[in-house]
Amino acid sequence: MDDAPAYGDQISVMICESSQVQLRILSKAVEDAGYVVQTAHNAEEVLALLKVMPTDILLTGIEIGEMNGLEVCWALKANPDTETIHTIVITASGQERRLEESLDAGADDFIRKPVNMTELRARLRAASRLVRMQKQFRQLAETDALTGAANRRAFMHCLEMETEQARRHGSDVSVVMIDLDHFKRVNDTHGHAIGDRVLIETVKVVQKCLRDRDLLGRLGGEEFAVVLHDTTIEHAATAAERIRAAIEAMRICDDQGGAVPITTSLGVSAATADTGLDTPESLLLAADEALYEAKNSGRNRVVLARSDAPAIRLATG
Ligand code: GH3
Ligand code: MG
Ligand code: MG
Repeated sequence: MDDAPAYGDQISVMICESSQVQLRILSKAVEDAGYVVQTAHNAEEVLALLKVMPTDILLTGIEIGEMNGLEVCWALKANPDTETIHTIVITASGQERRLEESLDAGADDFIRKPVNMTELRARLRAASRLVRMQKQFRQLAETDALTGAANRRAFMHCLEMETEQARRHGSDVSVVMIDLDHFKRVNDTHGHAIGDRVLIETVKVVQKCLRDRDLLGRLGGEEFAVVLHDTTIEHAATAAERIRAAIEAMRICDDQGGAVPITTSLGVSAATADTGLDTPESLLLAADEALYEAKNSGRNRVVLARSDAPAIRLATG
């Protein structure tokens, strides 16, 4: 069991073989080595399963139906959603010619039949190292270094996916823009390091107000936004008020023990068929307009974008 990845960090392997016996033998061996295993009998099943169950590694035979294993590898590498799946092709004896073809088709590795289980485990270990490294790189590329929230790029990507899904299924998605009030004063009064601590604590507090499918991003400076999955504007308003109250209730002290009171202004918008707000840009703009109104009408409050148009701007002052 020395292969077993650490708990909570398990690597998943999808195995595709047309032979039921071979599939059972392979899946038992891979499962015993500590991986999470899914099985498929043909190429079509692999592609259908991947839409609902992502995997880290695909271990596939070549003759697996109308579409062969090499074509599956090629299809995975050509799709941004699946291009990072590590693919290992099982080649039968007499298919040496196909080794080169496998690698050209985008297979990352191959293993010869009859499969030697020690060799398979070693190849899976090597694949797992690459998969973990790739996950770490992705994590770094998508995360704001100071707070651990999603960075702007990752946030925008998530918002694009969510609005696309909402449009396709006729479901809801909401956005909450969050901007700390008079944050410049916090830095000026208590120092930049305390300002940083406030940003870090704010992210922790907001995360606690969210569900698994919601995403908090740091758009820049002291400005954050949340994508609320499958959420109407009414529920988003409740969530925004919860966030506002939670931030106001934070207790942060400076190095002399002095209290650092923090409040936020929030703007909320939602994408539904009847608002006509259905692009990431229009949703953000509407939430930003509502936030602007929250600032101008006294701060420390939640303002909703009007359902028929972005929130009305009030005169400054
Ligand atoms: P308002 O209520 O209108 O939002 O006022 P504000 O002071 O929060 O807004 P303003 O845009 O004037 O100032 C934002 C401040 O945030 C200025 C900048 O120095 C500070 N800031 C931006 N990024 C960071 C950071 O990473 N750490 C710290 N400590 N401060 C930051
Ligand atoms: Mg601010
Ligand atoms: Mg700001």
